Amino acid sequence: MEKFSSLARFKSSCPFLGGTKTSTLRALSSTISPRFSSISQLTERAASCPIMGPALVMRSTQMVAGYASVAGQADVQKIHHSKGIFPGTSVSEADISKCPHASAARAAARMADDLAAASTAKASEVKKEIPSTAREAAAAGCPFHRAAAAAKEQPVKLPDMTETQATPTTSDAYNYDKFYAAELEKKHKDQSYRYFNNINRLATKFPIAHTASVKEEVQVWCANDYLGMGNNPVVLETMHRALDKYGAGAGGTRNIAGNSAMHLGLERELATLHRKEAALVFSSCYVANDATLSTLGSKLPGCVYFSDASNHASMIQGIRHSGAKKEIFKHNDLDDLEAKLKKYPKETPKIIAFESVYSMCGSIGPIKEICDLAEKYGAQTFLDEVHAVGLYGPRGAGVAEHLDWESHQLAGQSSEPIKDSVMDRIDMITGTLGKAYGAVGGYVAGSRDFIDMIRSYAPGFIFTTSLPPATVAGARASVIYQKHHVGDRALKQVNVRTVKERFAALDIPVVPGPSHIVPVLVGDAGLTKAASDKLLREHGIYVQAINFPTVAVGEERLRVTVTPRHTAEQIDGLITAMDTVFTELNINRISDWTKLGGRANVGTGKENVEPIWSNAQINTAGQSQTLHDGDMVLVDANAAQVVRKSFEDLLGPMELSETESIQKKVEAVVMTGAVEHIAGPLPKKVKARAPVNPIDMSVATTIAVSA
Ligand code: PLP
Repeated sequence: MEKFSSLARFKSSCPFLGGTKTSTLRALSSTISPRFSSISQLTERAASCPIMGPALVMRSTQMVAGYASVAGQADVQKIHHSKGIFPGTSVSEADISKCPHASAARAAARMADDLAAASTAKASEVKKEIPSTAREAAAAGCPFHRAAAAAKEQPVKLPDMTETQATPTTSDAYNYDKFYAAELEKKHKDQSYRYFNNINRLATKFPIAHTASVKEEVQVWCANDYLGMGNNPVVLETMHRALDKYGAGAGGTRNIAGNSAMHLGLERELATLHRKEAALVFSSCYVANDATLSTLGSKLPGCVYFSDASNHASMIQGIRHSGAKKEIFKHNDLDDLEAKLKKYPKETPKIIAFESVYSMCGSIGPIKEICDLAEKYGAQTFLDEVHAVGLYGPRGAGVAEHLDWESHQLAGQSSEPIKDSVMDRIDMITGTLGKAYGAVGGYVAGSRDFIDMIRSYAPGFIFTTSLPPATVAGARASVIYQKHHVGDRALKQVNVRTVKERFAALDIPVVPGPSHIVPVLVGDAGLTKAASDKLLREHGIYVQAINFPTVAVGEERLRVTVTPRHTAEQIDGLITAMDTVFTELNINRISDWTKLGGRANVGTGKENVEPIWSNAQINTAGQSQTLHDGDMVLVDANAAQVVRKSFEDLLGPMELSETESIQKKVEAVVMTGAVEHIAGPLPKKVKARAPVNPIDMSVATTIAVSA
């Protein structure tokens, strides 16, 4: 206990201690490290700390030297002799364990060696400087340390395979451990080493999560479950039904037993969403981007990629893996793109790869203008709508749909392309099922032959187990629900505007942009991490720090994501907490950046960017009202009904009495099906609201399903 209360004193100065529950620290301190048998997991972590690590190594080395210095003394020898130990050139195991001095000395020597190895940040230097503390002590004349050193040089075979395999047995073998340590050291040095927070988002309490301790709850303000679809009752209900019918896994690749009606149904749904001929589902959009771009670029003869400088890693890797030539154009810079396109003859195959919403700065790609350039120079367009699907457009198809809102609204749920619309002019669209749709998976949509070619050639599609049917069903339910219900994404925009306006009123810098992303500029890696830690520790607010290489050095930020499910009270809490942390850590505000000449478009007079969602578009959802603590969350009855209908062929109809009205049926099914699964309180009454879906207004009610 005493130990922990003294550790608690350092909670405010140490980000690790500060961000870790006392119970976790206790558990770590009482569990032996799986890699180093002489130290606890807590000590192992401390050893990799740039401050604690060297101090621990030095202290344990001093202890070993202390033992060595007394080992040869006459009175210690007397103790040895009295215990029947007469150490000569060799010391037996029995001798060592008989003698308290010898066994303590050997334990200290082992710990010193373990600490030196665990101190990954400095491991390469430590090993050079302190080859073995046990050997050093042996050289100082201690027979027991001689034995310990010898034991170290001929290690007993440990059951831990990773350690025994990684430890070189001959001096000329490659030193893998040294390599790993050096790579990690680079990460620590440039402050890009990633610390993952233990966050367990609770389906019944969105946006609340518990931390490593199930009793400690925090508000999540950075998840990409942008709409809370990860716990939508109709999605969960569909997943439960599919799981019960089809089991846990897909059973194979799409080629071998893993190609089900659920997969085909999702692909049809996605093709319709983007009004394209076909779509192909992958295990994630990282894989979709990588597999599509690498396959395309390696197949198209002499292909040249034109890639936006801010493109996501998945596109960068895909282009790299294709081996095709690439030109990187400045972020959203049409002049630079055109200058690069001009360099190649029109007949050269070209692909312009870009995003609609750039997730770290919140900017939006000039999609229409890029299509114009593509036409002019004979290029194809590849648009990543990962941070836009589910969130933009009357059916949630993304920014390309949003730009022609009225014509898409008029066309309703038809799968036919709208000629000359922006979405129609894009050749390939990729999206994720893991963010606004709350599930997992990715996809590409395009022409039938293009999709068939990727299906036939892309290793990332062919040689991997396909997604489980229940997951695919949940993703499709989510896509259908959002296609028929605009209310969630409209309310999200309302809340995003509120948060941006309130930050601006407090001079808190947000990187300006027209999208739903709220990047709060901090401008320093250490400070961003400290701010994130403080928000979590002192205010129960989780916003992940975003550092290099995700953003440029000096543009580090806290990327806040606001959902339609954050309540007015939670928004108040976020604003107050951020303001307090900015003051306490003396973080630059907008006015400070202005004096410094601006950073990341903050303090440069470019703050007032028009949001891409107009008031009229928001109003198509009726009156979007921010929730208050304790409010019931509404599920759209019409959208829920369409989801159920869409799965009737595979999962069967929901069992209802023939005499019930349509509205009663929907209500009953929501209540008895989905709500049961999320264990929320059953709704007492159906709330009638203004029409929520501008496309299909046949059923215009919503149902409250959980608090
Ligand atoms: N594209 C962009 C722009 C992304 O930000 C991400 C993920 O964060 C991906 C692709 C990968 O998507 P997924 O999470 O489905 O792998």
